[in-house]
Amino acid sequence: MRDKVFKVMYIRETGIINDFKLVCNDVKIFDPPVEITELEHRSIADHDGEIAIVPPVSTLQGAKSILVNYRVNQTSYVNALIDPDIFAEFHDYVRLGEVSGVFLVREDGKAVISFGALSEKDIPPISESVDHISHHHGNVFSIYKSGEFPLYAVVAASPAFILKHWRHDLVFLIGLGALMSLFLILIMKRNRKHRLNLLYEELWQAIEKNEFCVYYLPLLDMNSNQCVGAEALIRWQHPSQGLVLPLVFIPAAEQNGMIRNITQWMIQRLDLELREVLTQNPSIHISLNLSPFDFGAGQDQIDSNDLLFNGIPHHQIIYEITEHRLMPRHVPVVHETMAILRQKGAKLALDDFGTGYSNLSYLQDFHLDYLKIDKMFIDGIQSQSTSTGLIDHVINIAKSMDYQLIAEGIEHEYQMSYLKERGVIFGQGFFFAKPMPLKDFKEYLVNTNSIEKFKH
Ligand code: C2E
Ligand code: MG
Ligand code: MG
Repeated sequence: MRDKVFKVMYIRETGIINDFKLVCNDVKIFDPPVEITELEHRSIADHDGEIAIVPPVSTLQGAKSILVNYRVNQTSYVNALIDPDIFAEFHDYVRLGEVSGVFLVREDGKAVISFGALSEKDIPPISESVDHISHHHGNVFSIYKSGEFPLYAVVAASPAFILKHWRHDLVFLIGLGALMSLFLILIMKRNRKHRLNLLYEELWQAIEKNEFCVYYLPLLDMNSNQCVGAEALIRWQHPSQGLVLPLVFIPAAEQNGMIRNITQWMIQRLDLELREVLTQNPSIHISLNLSPFDFGAGQDQIDSNDLLFNGIPHHQIIYEITEHRLMPRHVPVVHETMAILRQKGAKLALDDFGTGYSNLSYLQDFHLDYLKIDKMFIDGIQSQSTSTGLIDHVINIAKSMDYQLIAEGIEHEYQMSYLKERGVIFGQGFFFAKPMPLKDFKEYLVNTNSIEKFKH
């Protein structure tokens, strides 16, 4: 849900309603669930599996939003709140006198959005038919039926505008519907850029205001039950949205160029906060997730020194790179950077193995140390002795290439037993531990490995 809200610029908030209470939204889980004050507005679809759309209502965050309501059953709904501003740019066309009305109309004829000189009453009857242009009360209406939702977009062009432009724009040939789609595409593009810029600002501020933090996911040797390291996972302690997970902002950071700053921040933070743990436990290592952009997979070249640590030894570092984000065209540049990091003693792991494009010869070009089997394959293990078979295949590939294997996302004991029986030694997942702040990770390390307590 968070992912959608961040990526789809016009969705403001999403929420799940159960027994007429808000159970969670894209920001957090409400425990106990929150009573919805404007219940009648928020639970309005009549039949299960139906979508209803409500004109702008005030939301918990105080802004007016269009409400899209999906009914799961009589007491459960999923709501998405849409920013009415997506129509803001139509105001310009209204102001210029080119358009005399813009409407978003439900099947029952009720307008969810309406502005311009005309009112809802001026709209011609909406029929079930597909897109059409109709002449009604001296205006030309273009009616466009949504393919996905029970909605019609209606635009009324003033006759003066049409007379003025028809020769140039061949309005009737293109059709106003097409013209409107064009408007919409332009607006979407502009807004998307705007959204990315906004996130760019927010991410800068997050660095400046120190809103990022690191959680550690322990890595276990499943034979000895000892903790052999941890994966460093970034979190964003957002001032209003709570703890935001990386999948929500890392892809955007890659698009808007902030990813390298984020990696820099991670390296500096790990340098600072892990010195004590790593010096006292020289056999433990920490893994850092990198993006292809950290290797210069974008336009400009990078300085591999940017990826080096100052305070902690590189032989205690594993750099992880995700398989599905690594394209064959990245090979030369990644290869070069990795060679430098390996010279320093660091190790390289291929993350989410099995989800990408790799063919085996191309994998070998990377000189990897570890393959991390993606959780998707671990999920395919159904009991201590049965699986979908895919996992066996992945294990055999890795063994034939002499890589060390790490199993990701182990949630059940039988998954661990299955993997151990097939020679997989390293594992991580919620069965062992969830990602945790440094303080808790130190405690976990002390308890799991029976070592002395840390002083700080
Ligand atoms: P990843 O590197 O594959 O990290 C493992 C993800 O799986 C983590 O999610 C972890 O919390 C989750 N996980 C581990 N065990 C289990 C389990 O048993 N069950 C379930 N349901 N989940 C499990 P997280 O922290 O949300 O990170 C998601 C991804 O974001 C990471 O996937 C990584 O690709 C990326 N990421 C995280 N931190 C950074 C960072 O500092 N830089 C970059 N570039 N990417 C990062
Ligand atoms: Mg990883
Ligand atoms: Mg992974």
